[in-house]
Amino acid sequence: MPIPLISDDKGNISFDHRLKATGMEGGRVFRLDRSGLIKLPAGSRLFMLPSRQAVGYDQISGKIMPIESSLAVAASLAPGYTATYSAAYRPIGRPKQLPLFSYAAVSAYKGELYTPAILVDNDKRHDCRYIDITVVRKKILKFSKLMPKNRLIGHLKTCALIHGCPNAQNFFLSRYEAPLPVSQSCNATCLGCISFQHYKRCPASQPRIRFAPTAEEVMGIALFHIENVRQPIVSFGQGCEGEPLLQDDLIAKTIALIRKETSKGTIHMNTNGSRPDALARLLDAGLDSVRISLNSARESYYRRYYRPRGYAFGDVMDSISASKKKGAFVSINYLTMPGFTDTVNEFKAFKRLVLECKVDMIQWRNLNYDPLAYFKELDSWPKSAELLGIKTVIDSLSKELPSIRMGYFNPAL
Ligand code: SF4
Repeated sequence: MPIPLISDDKGNISFDHRLKATGMEGGRVFRLDRSGLIKLPAGSRLFMLPSRQAVGYDQISGKIMPIESSLAVAASLAPGYTATYSAAYRPIGRPKQLPLFSYAAVSAYKGELYTPAILVDNDKRHDCRYIDITVVRKKILKFSKLMPKNRLIGHLKTCALIHGCPNAQNFFLSRYEAPLPVSQSCNATCLGCISFQHYKRCPASQPRIRFAPTAEEVMGIALFHIENVRQPIVSFGQGCEGEPLLQDDLIAKTIALIRKETSKGTIHMNTNGSRPDALARLLDAGLDSVRISLNSARESYYRRYYRPRGYAFGDVMDSISASKKKGAFVSINYLTMPGFTDTVNEFKAFKRLVLECKVDMIQWRNLNYDPLAYFKELDSWPKSAELLGIKTVIDSLSKELPSIRMGYFNPAL
């Protein structure tokens, strides 16, 4: 049986051999079974969780027990993997909110590290083993000479080297998906926004772009990528910006400039889908693919996380429908949290949405947020009987809706 990983307060990680490993769903702690675990994927990171006591399952008493003088350990999984349980712990006092990462359970079995997770996408585009930062640095120099006046090169350089953004790194390596950040503001105030934290409970992990690039600057990045990459995709709506639909004029102009030069490449947008009319206009201009993010298919829970300003859940649904009607490839970026995403009611609502809107793809992204804080904000504390399990949810949707692509990354069309 897998055993818990524990840490001291300096971050030295070890094992507890007396108890068995546990995971958390919706604030409830469960014993982890070996059959639901995979080896911790390469590129995952381990975190010691401050002011959170490690817990384990005691086989003799059949109880969940705190582990003396030990802090809990969690894993932020490599991209492409979706966690099925969060790390289990007991808060010590009233701990500060955890920073904006995902916190999967992690354990040890026969001397190796294991985690409850599912591989949802084989694509290696964000696999840090294949990103050589020395080469990225060299290529940045090349791009700075090639486009000396393009301010986006400087912005993407910071993203690649300081914030470790794999899309920015891949842009400089001329492969996969190139980021096209343009927007300084947003009409939502998401709890887990990584580019701006309205609530100041934890730091934003990737600061927002501070200037509005010109259509020519954005086009310069996009065109270079499209012309030099196999199966290129260029994407508006990045972690380092606000909502791209608030920059629809600039984006419409950029798409027109790109399409004047080439019909190649996929032009994509990651968005909150708040402005269906603006989105329809961009689809008319030549946007090929749209990914709309949701934490929930139920309006009340959506509102508690997104905290929209000046738009409604219905607008998001209209954006999905408008994109489908205009022939775009439509993905849902489903921000997944064990204990919420897999509740019976959320599953029913999400399945209905996916069927009604006829989406093409579901991306099962781990929600980067403190798990217990999330349930508190949503005021959702499900009973054990209401939990289906993330694996069951993904497996049953895959079986029932085989035409819908399951994955993690935006595909080139
Ligand atoms: S929609 Fe995106 S940019 Fe806007 S607050 Fe939410 S995460 Fe941040």
